[in-house]
Amino acid sequence: MSHFAQPAASLYIDGAFVEGAGAELAVHYPYTGAVIATLREASPEQVAKATAAAAAAQPGWAALRPVERGRVLIRAAQIIRERAEELARLETLDTGKPIQETRVADWPSGADALEYFGGLAPTVTGQAIPLGGDFVYTIREALGVCAGIGAWNYPSQIACWKAAPALAMGNAMVFKPSEETPLGALKLAEILTEAGLPAGIFNVVQGRGAIGSALVTDPRVAKVSLTGSVATGQRVYAAAAEGMRHVTMELGGKSPLIVFDDASLEDAVGAAMLANFYSSGQICSNGTRVFVQQGILPAFLDRLAERVAKVRIGDPLDEETQHGPIVSPAQAAKIREAIERGRAEGARLVCGGPGEGAFVPPTVFADASDDMWIVREEIFGPVMSVLGFATEAEAVARANASPYGLAAGVFTRDLARGHRVAAALQAGTTWINAYNLTPVEAPFGGVKLSGIGRENSAAAIEHYSQLKSVYVGMGGVDAPY
Ligand code: NDP
Repeated sequence: MSHFAQPAASLYIDGAFVEGAGAELAVHYPYTGAVIATLREASPEQVAKATAAAAAAQPGWAALRPVERGRVLIRAAQIIRERAEELARLETLDTGKPIQETRVADWPSGADALEYFGGLAPTVTGQAIPLGGDFVYTIREALGVCAGIGAWNYPSQIACWKAAPALAMGNAMVFKPSEETPLGALKLAEILTEAGLPAGIFNVVQGRGAIGSALVTDPRVAKVSLTGSVATGQRVYAAAAEGMRHVTMELGGKSPLIVFDDASLEDAVGAAMLANFYSSGQICSNGTRVFVQQGILPAFLDRLAERVAKVRIGDPLDEETQHGPIVSPAQAAKIREAIERGRAEGARLVCGGPGEGAFVPPTVFADASDDMWIVREEIFGPVMSVLGFATEAEAVARANASPYGLAAGVFTRDLARGHRVAAALQAGTTWINAYNLTPVEAPFGGVKLSGIGRENSAAAIEHYSQLKSVYVGMGGVDAPY
């Protein structure tokens, strides 16, 4: 079957496909390296056109009844579910992730977000604050034009997670996907239009960082939501601050997963694998520092090596494949460098290694120590570091000794300990006897360097709206002049 995935044009502005006027952007299928589409970046003028279209359309969209806005989003979720197979395939071509993942995780999670925020839109109300005669009421109103900027690991999910709450609240959005994975956002634009979204409310521009930067500093943009690395987040946050723009920053991490010796070994090993190898390890919330209590450390490592040896690596379009290629040769090279560094630092390679071509196999280091580079820095690849520990207090202190705070996990059968440790861990999301589950009903986001703001859940509504207070005077004006 052909892997050609050329969209009608590169950009989506004001309800229509438009060809980009900037540099060429070749889209590669990570498994074969073949070019599956050739796009063009937007020019800075086209970015301005997109934000202008969004600004012009937004007031009309915000003026609709929330239930009408919600209906469009829910219809879009239905279309996504009807086209599930075609969309999963496109996501696999764009990212290289196994089809068994893209069928269940990527677009389905995006559809959940559209459905959730479509349903939530009509429930958002203000408050009435009595003042004994006079009173105040509050209105939660749209911000205006929001800029969304995505990373390459979950391109369609990220676009939906940002668009759904933004649009539900009556904002318009201009979205810039990662240059590595530009196809899903264009599909979303098409689907939203088919679902009845007015022209100009969801726009897509393509380009590298410079185009993202033009978008962030556009005077019409009121809010910037970025999913990306900490370094990019720091730059974008600073640029947004110039215009006092609202921000949501979903950034990287180096999350801890703590396994106590009373945990179910099989569940803890399974979770550690999910927490490191799903999407070939290219997940921001991955639990890459696996702290295992000394009592079960040998058994944990043995079982882990046994299960890792059975992971099926290969063609991502093969339904049996569990581990696909890395998104790009440049990213694979970075991961290999990290593995080399781990070896040079003296960590013991239990399984895996640098691999070859587009593939880096699931890799486990044991006998690692907290000060090693591989234990401190985000690798964004399938590389797990296993660290031994003795006591709960020690595990919590070491888990928290990181500038990041996106996620954390704890495995134990001791109920009180599970909750105590979850409370003590410095992370935006903490799992007890689970890992990396991010249902739309639950807030998601980081603390410390991992970001600011929350996506998903009712909490996201606050990040895509602002509160207006209306004071109503019921008596005369008592002026002292
Ligand atoms: P990057 O930070 O490199 O890029 C993120 C996005 O920002 C891309 O679209 C990129 O464009 C764009 N960009 C780069 N520079 C600028 C700039 N100056 N102004 C505006 N936009 C800019 O991240 P990756 O794509 O490499 O993704 C991996 C990172 O994302 C990891 O650190 C990971 O942890 C994090 N991540 C966080 C998640 C979370 O929810 N917390 C989820 C997924 C990933 P381009 O790529 O075209 O250069």
